Amino acid sequence: MDYNALAELLFPQIQTTPAEIEAKYPPRNLPEGAKVTRMAPSPTGFMHLGNLFSAIVDERLAHQSGGVLCLRIEDTDLKRSVEGGVQTIVRVFHEYELGFDEGATADGETGAYGPYYQRQRAEIYQTFAKWLVQQGKAYPCFCSEEELNAIREKQTALKENIGYYGKYAVYRDASFEQIKEKIDAGERFVLRFRSEGNPENRRKVNDLVKGTVEFPENEQDLVLLKSDGIPTYHFAHVVDDHLMQTTHVVRGEEWLATLPFHVQLFQAMGWKLPKYVHTSQLMKMDGGSKRKLSKRKDPELALDFYKQAGYCVPAVKEYIMTLLNSNFEDWRLANPTADLNEFKFTTQKMSASGSLFDIDKLNDVSKNVISRMSVEQVYSHLTGWAEQFDPDFHKLLTRDPAYTRSILAIGRGGKKPRKDLATWSDAKPYMDFFFDELFQPDDCYPEHVTEEDRRTILTRYLDLYDPADDNTQWFERIKALADEVGYASNMKDYKKNPEAFRGNVGDVSMVIRVAVTGRQNSPDMYEVMGILGKEKVAERLKKALA
Ligand code: GLU
Repeated sequence: MDYNALAELLFPQIQTTPAEIEAKYPPRNLPEGAKVTRMAPSPTGFMHLGNLFSAIVDERLAHQSGGVLCLRIEDTDLKRSVEGGVQTIVRVFHEYELGFDEGATADGETGAYGPYYQRQRAEIYQTFAKWLVQQGKAYPCFCSEEELNAIREKQTALKENIGYYGKYAVYRDASFEQIKEKIDAGERFVLRFRSEGNPENRRKVNDLVKGTVEFPENEQDLVLLKSDGIPTYHFAHVVDDHLMQTTHVVRGEEWLATLPFHVQLFQAMGWKLPKYVHTSQLMKMDGGSKRKLSKRKDPELALDFYKQAGYCVPAVKEYIMTLLNSNFEDWRLANPTADLNEFKFTTQKMSASGSLFDIDKLNDVSKNVISRMSVEQVYSHLTGWAEQFDPDFHKLLTRDPAYTRSILAIGRGGKKPRKDLATWSDAKPYMDFFFDELFQPDDCYPEHVTEEDRRTILTRYLDLYDPADDNTQWFERIKALADEVGYASNMKDYKKNPEAFRGNVGDVSMVIRVAVTGRQNSPDMYEVMGILGKEKVAERLKKALA
């Protein structure tokens, strides 16, 4: 067979040579050890935790080493691409502060190793495909869906391996004339790789997460180009990551199964294999057993979920880091206020088995992250979130920014900051009573306080509250009030002889707390009252007496 003639027959439109293309991708001028990584999402419009998981690994590997992070768009599958899909990818990664150095942008692309949209690289793939045909390493296949189904059925009946290989690879040895006849008749073909692999031989590849993976050589003549001349993932991966000089391919472990083919392709092209980092599946506990997070069952898989619920970006990233590197939490304990990027991320500390996603743990991490923020940071995050997801609340929050800031300042700073908020949507139930529009009085007074006592306490307190008091004076007044109404002001006395009292100072405080805030749980009442001010406190007490 004259492979050159075959290559011309199949790709008459391609006159570029591999060397001409290679020349457009000169070696990158990077410091020793710098890593080049890339995210290669499909523009499906759905961004999930797995995307972020890989992206954080990519970003850390690249930027920690003074390397380059690229964003490449895998838009080869039109069925999976949606309008605005790229903008969603760019927006979400931007929100997560994953600064790409090159690749797709919201309205185009930037960087010298493009194009970064695979659809725009058709000629490049076809050039290398033609080159493979010239070497006898690829050939056209004209099988219809029905023919392929028939092959599969036969293999199933005979309990043989499924696929297009060996004697089942019906076009592998087609003659030039047979092929020409079909091409002349306008028949469409896919381009298949001519595999020389023998499954009896085993190959080993080192994966930076999974360790040494061993597998039989691939014997399937897999598809490189689909009938529209657009590459499969496999071929695009090999060509792109070679040309863009990716040093580390970070991707989900679902790609491990086709790694043998990728290794074979790199070898057939005569190119250096990149390092592989196959990230583990995200799992969750469900009724006592572990299972994969699923798009259908688990809303928390979608990154939009976190945005709507008001999780803040630093918290989600911090939590993902706890999943990615087993030593991260110890580092955080030792460096409570350090920037996340000061942590030395390494693939060696990544788990080779599934990572267990636990939303309660995320909430804990998030509470810590928010508790370490300044008032100003909280104000800006919270109002930013509310503007988009709770405009009415946003109006209240921004009506008097100083008032809102003083609420957010409660328990902030110091060694043991309060940890009330895991998400920005927690803020409203936490602080709603500060706003009359949201305040909902609730009669959750302690049951053993009689109605008469409740009224006496509230009526007396109306006269007693003085915003000029310091914290101690403020509490002394409540203790004095307790004594006055027959409630123990001293807890020790009360515990010794509870029968001697109608209750204790805790009950008195609780009555006041419920009247002022409408609930039994609230931040420090001294601070709360200070922020509400004398008039508002009086108003609430009166309302509770009405
Ligand atoms: N589009 C592929 C995915 O999202 C990319 C895998 C890769 O990074 O190579 O799974």
